[in-house]
Amino acid sequence: MPIYLRRATYNEMYEQNLPPISLAGMDIQDRDQSTAPLTHIQKGRPRKKRVRAGEARIRNSTCGTFGEAGHNARSCRRPHM
Ligand SMILES: [Zn+2]
Repeated sequence: MPIYLRRATYNEMYEQNLPPISLAGMDIQDRDQSTAPLTHIQKGRPRKKRVRAGEARIRNSTCGTFGEAGHNARSCRRPHM
């Protein structure tokens, strides 16, 4: 059995009490400056939604959000709202 899994090691680690931590002076800073992160809103058809017969599958896609080639809006990695 490895030494870090042994009971003796565990007992040794917790032999002494953990020191208490003072929370004085720990304020929430910049409360007004915090903003929600830009979320990546998935666009287009949900992945599991069925493609009905007659719906064309586009091979060389273009990003509909930023007009970039090589990916579509759904797989676009750039954050947008
Ligand atoms: Zn894009």
